[in-house]
Amino acid sequence: MPKDFLAGAQDHYDVVVIGAGLAGLTSANILARQGRSVLLLEQHYKLGGLATWFKRPGHHIFDISLHGFPYGMVKSCRRYWSKEIADSIVQLTGIRFDNPMFSIQTDFTRADFTRKLVEDFRVPQETVDAFFDTARGMNFYDDQQTTARELFDKFFPGREDVIRLLMEPITYANGSTLEDPAISYGIVFSNFMSKGVFTFEGGTDALITKMGEELVKSGVDVRIRSDCERIHVGSDGDGGSKVTGVTVNGRHIKCDAVVSNSNLRSTIFRLCGEEVFDKDFVEEARAVRINNSSTQVYMALRPDDPLEESTGDLLFTSTAPTFNTEALLSRDITSRTYSMYYPRTRPEGRPQKLIVSSTNARWEDWAQMPEEEYQTSKADLCETTLDALDHYVPDIRNRVVHVEASTPRTFNHYTHHVAGASFGTKFEGLAVSRALPQQVRGLFHAGSVGIIMSGWLGAMNYGVIVANEVDSTLMTGGSESTSGFEREVAADVAAG
Ligand SMILES: Cc1cc2nc3c(=O)[nH]c(=O)nc-3n(C[C@H](O)[C@H](O)[C@H](O)COP(=O)(O)OP(=O)(O)OC[C@H]3O[C@@H](n4cnc5c(N)ncnc54)[C@H](O)[C@@H]3O)c2cc1C
Repeated sequence: MPKDFLAGAQDHYDVVVIGAGLAGLTSANILARQGRSVLLLEQHYKLGGLATWFKRPGHHIFDISLHGFPYGMVKSCRRYWSKEIADSIVQLTGIRFDNPMFSIQTDFTRADFTRKLVEDFRVPQETVDAFFDTARGMNFYDDQQTTARELFDKFFPGREDVIRLLMEPITYANGSTLEDPAISYGIVFSNFMSKGVFTFEGGTDALITKMGEELVKSGVDVRIRSDCERIHVGSDGDGGSKVTGVTVNGRHIKCDAVVSNSNLRSTIFRLCGEEVFDKDFVEEARAVRINNSSTQVYMALRPDDPLEESTGDLLFTSTAPTFNTEALLSRDITSRTYSMYYPRTRPEGRPQKLIVSSTNARWEDWAQMPEEEYQTSKADLCETTLDALDHYVPDIRNRVVHVEASTPRTFNHYTHHVAGASFGTKFEGLAVSRALPQQVRGLFHAGSVGIIMSGWLGAMNYGVIVANEVDSTLMTGGSESTSGFEREVAADVAAG
């Protein structure tokens, strides 16, 4: 008989959280700490969502999305998880850029960027200061009409090299483009510039294991291999509708609220069904653009390989003559970001030297490929990546002991994200996600949306905002405004 992953689960919970990505995990933890009964459902066999890892023979442990996050994670982890988790966050200082326009090494802070922009790029100090102040002053509620391109043209007209330095890493970090609202660029960029780029010492496996332990301490009922098929909506007896429960692994479980960490579009169209929403809302939801996906190549060297730490921690490389987002997404790859993992990544584990190459990619380029062509294309991705990496790690082909690739199909397979989205939705997804509880009482979405609420820091803090709203809804039926708290958390995210 197949194992019952819901054995012993109750018939009713205050809240069901669907999905154990960083937003779902954080929401579940906060709500349980607030005394709510919480059921956390994850369809995969491990927690973490895109914050994940995999193991290969030879004691290699590859991280998928542990490339770098802003300092704000320290405060968020301390407040909403534990001091122990927060204390494992450490800085990465070897950030390199190499492209036909410039080659530089930086710690990715405002001070160092200012120095480089003034001394190497010859931009007047006042212009640099004014740009940083403007980006820093941006927040969640600001003008959304100005695009990133307009922001750059205002401060650095005609300076494609400067725009490349400022934009390329953020495009890589959250898929944003020059056409997206400037605030989605400014907030994320300023977060990083506040103190630089950080990582979790011990690896994603250690982080998620610690979070799992915290969930148990908080009293969350955690269930893996539990695929939620349906969110049930009924009448609230007052002319509106409300959440009544979920169906998971064929079993019906009642609840008063649902937090869906599943993809926004899946939540609306697959889990709920469009018939439960207003027509206008459905139109708005249909218009939400999914953000791009990624390809990655995972490479292991021998533990005693002479790879020097001076090679850097994060290398933003490109062979494209100028920066353009089309080129960043093209299957004809010109841009690769290499993350280097030295023994210090997992000081307590076996020493390892790993390199992960990441490139933004389009779902459409991979989705329909017949199996044979798909396998050939993946092999080609590995080969061309080794060729490109040879420039930074000479003789890489003779040094590498394991190579494999992932594609947008891989991300779709493991997380069920529409189009294998790496960074949720484009900007308009934020408003749709926020509006769900006005459509159906007790229905919430928490997860990467709108570029700003994406990445480890954004997703986690969106989970915080939503947990607070759920608690208020359960307490007062949603009659009390939580906007003060939302502004506070949004300010924390913006403060990096
Ligand atoms: C290649 C790559 C590199 C990245 N690099 C970085 C980086 O360096 N720094 C950074 O800050 N961010 C990075 N990110 C982005 C970051 O990982 C994500 O934004 C963040 O982890 C997403 O968290 P989330 O809460 O939105 O949920 P997700 O991680 O998307 O998780 C959603 C979860 O819901 C589950 N689920 C979905 N549907 C159901 C269902 N019906 N029933 C049960 N469970 C369900 C899924 O299995 C999944 O576990 C990267 C992402 C990718 C793909």
